[in-house]
Amino acid sequence: MDCLFCKIVEGEIPADILYQDEKVIVFRDINPQAPFHALVIPRQHIPTLNDIADEDCELVGYMLKVASDVAEEHGFAEDGYRSVFNCNSHGGQTVYHIHLHLLGGKPMGWPPYQEKLKTPV
Ligand code: 5GP
Ligand code: ZN
Repeated sequence: MDCLFCKIVEGEIPADILYQDEKVIVFRDINPQAPFHALVIPRQHIPTLNDIADEDCELVGYMLKVASDVAEEHGFAEDGYRSVFNCNSHGGQTVYHIHLHLLGGKPMGWPPYQEKLKTPV
């Protein structure tokens, strides 16, 4: 399958891996948008949030738990962080293997879209 993140799972493409177990891998984003920016991915190939099956719900919840553990380990859990799943084109998804962005180390802007500017911020 021609999926970038499956290739990282298989070790065919290198990544700066922060954590891995039998269900998930966490690695640094190649183009960080915050002082800390990592991606939590399942080893299982699921293209988008729209493809999550009932039996995947525990796995997706586990991805969030792993993200909070990584935030704790890197010292920004208490200050807080942003965790984001982008879905399809309007969500800004570019890699079609679900991934949870974990961004920390600075205050994040909100909301992500301003009606007045009609542009992402
Ligand atoms: P999306 O836009 O799909 O929500 O997020 C995809 C993320 O994957 C982007 O933040 C992008 O920087 C990151 N990314 C794309 N290619 C690679 C890669 O080869 N290695 C790593 N570590 N991150 C990547
Ligand atoms: Zn994949």
